[in-house]
Amino acid sequence: MRKPGTLEKPPLGTRSVGEGHIVVISGPSGVGKGTIIKKLMERNPQWLLAISATTRPRRQHEEHGKDYFFVSREEFQEMIQQLELVEYEEVYGNLYGTLRRELEKASEGDILIVEVDIRGARTIKGLYPHAVTIFISPPSIDELIRRLRKRDSDDERSLRRRLRALPNELDQAKEFEYIVINDELERAVEALEAIANASRYRRFFQLDQVMALRDEVKSL
Ligand code: ADP
Ligand code: 5GP
Repeated sequence: MRKPGTLEKPPLGTRSVGEGHIVVISGPSGVGKGTIIKKLMERNPQWLLAISATTRPRRQHEEHGKDYFFVSREEFQEMIQQLELVEYEEVYGNLYGTLRRELEKASEGDILIVEVDIRGARTIKGLYPHAVTIFISPPSIDELIRRLRKRDSDDERSLRRRLRALPNELDQAKEFEYIVINDELERAVEALEAIANASRYRRFFQLDQVMALRDEVKSL
C-alpha cells in the first residue's frame, strides 16, 4: 500500500501557518487514552481534537464524527488516493488514519490533541517537529488487563493479541518526549494539561515576538 503524500516541513525556527500546538497522545490499547482525552476536552473546551478515520466497527457509546469518522475499507482507500490522510496505519486488523483537514485545525491557534498509535506518532513528529509527544503508560500489567476486560468490545482472543503486542509497545516509550503513568485518572489528566499548556511557551512559538521587539528597538 502506498503511503500518503507528505506535508511540507516548515523552515527551521519560524512559525508557519498551520502548525499550531499539536499534542500527540499515544500508548497501549486500553491504557485510558480515550478517557483522559474526554476529560481534557471537557476541562478545556477551547482545545481542539483531531478526529481520525477508521474502518473499525463503531462501539456502542461512540458517535460518528465525534469519536471517529467510521468508514468502509473502500471509503478509506479513496481517502488514501485523494491524499486526504497525513498518515495511516493498520492497527489490530483495522485501518486508522489522521485527516489532513483535521490537523489543519491547528492553525486555529489552540491546542490540538491528536491520538494515534505509536507508528502514527512517529510520522506526525517527523512532519511536525514541534509537536509534543506524550506516551501514556499503565501503572501495572494487571491493571491494564483489568481495563481491557472492562471494555465491552474486547473478547479474550483480542485481549491476548493486545497483550502480545505490549512488550514492543512499551519499548516505544523511549521515543516520546513525555511519559505519563495513568494510575489515578485526575492526576494523569492534570499532568497532560500541564504538558500541553507548557508547549505554548516553546521557543518556536514565542521567538517571533521577541525578534519583533529586537527589530523595533533597533529602529528607534
Ligand atoms: P484507550 O483509549 O487507551 O484504549 P480507554 O480510555 O478506552 O483506553 O480506557 C480503557 C478502560 O480503562 C475504560 O473502561 C476506562 O474507564 C478505564 N480507565 C481509564 N483510565 C483509568 C484510570 N486512571 N483508572 C481506572 N480505570 C481507568
Ligand atoms: P481504538 O480502536 O482502541 O479506538 O484504537 C486502536 C489504536 O488505534 C489506538 O492505539 C489508537 O491510538 C490508534 N489510532 C486511532 N486513530 C489513529 C490514527 O488516526 N492513526 C493512527 N496511526 N493510529 C490511530
